Amino acid sequence: MKSRKPEEKTNSTQLRKNFEEDLVLLKKNICTAIIDLNVNGIGHATSLAYDQDLLKLTVDRGIRVEGCPSSNIATGAIPDLESLRIRELLEAGVLYSINPDDDLFLPDLTNTVQESSYVYKFTENDLNKMRLNAWKTRFGHRKPAPEDIRQLI
Ligand SMILES: [Zn+2]
Repeated sequence: MKSRKPEEKTNSTQLRKNFEEDLVLLKKNICTAIIDLNVNGIGHATSLAYDQDLLKLTVDRGIRVEGCPSSNIATGAIPDLESLRIRELLEAGVLYSINPDDDLFLPDLTNTVQESSYVYKFTENDLNKMRLNAWKTRFGHRKPAPEDIRQLI
């Protein structure tokens, strides 16, 4: 992928153009992860909703997707939060969850969820679904899930 300096100021039109130009490569990366590497989780997957075959494969294999919307905005990886098509991912059954990436220098989880909710108008059901997805697909399963989640997993 072409590298871009995060501090580089680009307007939303340029960011959209970059994202659209990168879609083929981004989808290829997801394809490599799923098909060649047989992963059980993918970080960001910003282009997943743009390929119905990959989307179906992700659902069929139960691959978790760790979305980091605020991080994607901060780095200029996406032109806007709508580009992630989170609603489509959830409706398709992707095990999608919202994550903060590094909350030392990026918005924390609470702010990331709030920013995304503002755009997607998440319902309580949507938020619960993403919370459940995160617990279902967590690393190592070392920490027991909260009682209300445990009975749903
Ligand atoms: Zn991330």
